[in-house]
Amino acid sequence: MSVKIGLEIHCQLTTLRTKLFCPCSSDYRDKEPNQLVCPVCFGVPGTLPVLNARAVEYAIRIGAALNCKTASETSFYRKNYFYPDLPKGFQISQYDKAGGMPIAYDGYVQLERKKFRVRRIQLEEDPGKLTYEGTIEKSSYSLVDYNRAGIALVEIVTEPDFESAKEAKVFLEKLRSTVEALGVSDGELEGAMRCDANVSVDEGGRVEIKNISSFKEVEKALNYEILRQSTFTKSSDNHVNETRHWDERRSITISLRLKEGEQDYRYFPEPDLPAVVLSEEFVERVRVETPEVPEARANRYVRDYSLTAQVAMELSRNAALSRLFEETVAIHRNGPDVANWITGESRAEVQKTLMGPGRETLPRRLAELLAMISQGKMTRVQAKEVFRGMLAKGESASSLAGQVGGVVTDEVVIGEIVGRVLRESGAEEARTNPKAFNYLVGQVLRAERRADPRVVAKLLRQKLEPGDNS
Ligand SMILES: [Zn+2]
Repeated sequence: MSVKIGLEIHCQLTTLRTKLFCPCSSDYRDKEPNQLVCPVCFGVPGTLPVLNARAVEYAIRIGAALNCKTASETSFYRKNYFYPDLPKGFQISQYDKAGGMPIAYDGYVQLERKKFRVRRIQLEEDPGKLTYEGTIEKSSYSLVDYNRAGIALVEIVTEPDFESAKEAKVFLEKLRSTVEALGVSDGELEGAMRCDANVSVDEGGRVEIKNISSFKEVEKALNYEILRQSTFTKSSDNHVNETRHWDERRSITISLRLKEGEQDYRYFPEPDLPAVVLSEEFVERVRVETPEVPEARANRYVRDYSLTAQVAMELSRNAALSRLFEETVAIHRNGPDVANWITGESRAEVQKTLMGPGRETLPRRLAELLAMISQGKMTRVQAKEVFRGMLAKGESASSLAGQVGGVVTDEVVIGEIVGRVLRESGAEEARTNPKAFNYLVGQVLRAERRADPRVVAKLLRQKLEPGDNS
């Protein structure tokens, strides 16, 4: 079975304060309906749209992060259609035919060994929001809220390069972390990132699934549609092009309309907005001011701090953890050590601390803890306990160190435990196998968590030497 999936993602530029073409507030969530509107939102005769310059910069940022080329000149078009969520009767968008140029085009996203091509990135305005009574199928009326009409959207269109629902989901998750890192959108906000997907199975008809509200639902909707279409393949009834709606509640797609041909939106150049010239200097300035995306940051961590690719990526995906890492490693200059503590077993507590008042001092406190370990003032086992205390109480490592006792270095005391562990666990394998050796070290540390691991290792090695029968 061959599956081809293409994605069309609409991403609201949620970090903008105003809409794309007027000064209305873009902060529409949890607001009374139809309050954040003005004559420009409605396209009242005599009004003129004014382009939000920051929105252009943000679209260029996204384009650059997705390896796109940036247009040297771009312009807006009217996409004409009637729908209640569209107060003007047309949407101001961009067009890539008839001489139109989207802001960015011809990019790609690399996921492991595969490249997924990005066809174009363009700016357009969000329509209003329709609310149905019950389901879209059976509703006898719909309510419309124009607060969302005119919000800046970036539309990202991919080539049909995805071969499974899983691939699409991984791509979308990466896209979300990218726009967050770029500072242009908070993808977690309800409706901030929406996705349409087109799917065809075994070269059959192209089915477009509309209105998938969250990325979590995308994988479900695609899997459902692949299964549905593959059953049709056998009955050779799969050559219709159609638009379907993803019904989240019932987890099925339902047919909205058959597509005889391309819909004709009568695109024409928006007469009220001049073309936007994107000079090389301007694009370069935007690129320089663009925050680092996770991949670039991860590469830097691998190069400058000798982290493994996996740990580097885990840190880089999270802005708060990255900041903690960089601030800590500036004091305690051992990258892998710092990274392992941050991404280790207490990661959930670390993240919680980074949301609270302990955030400011954590880099200094963690660096102090790591210094105490390397100076032999505390074992790693003890340090873990101290670390948890630090996260919970906001205290320093040195003030908590007393509670876990000192480090035991006495060879007689440790030697006794080593002897007992060897009698219980056996020594044969540990002579040749480093893993078995480390296991024994762990057993000793479990029996005495204050034991200095260096002394433990030394005594174990001595006792494992041939001829030592003690
Ligand atoms: Zn307005």
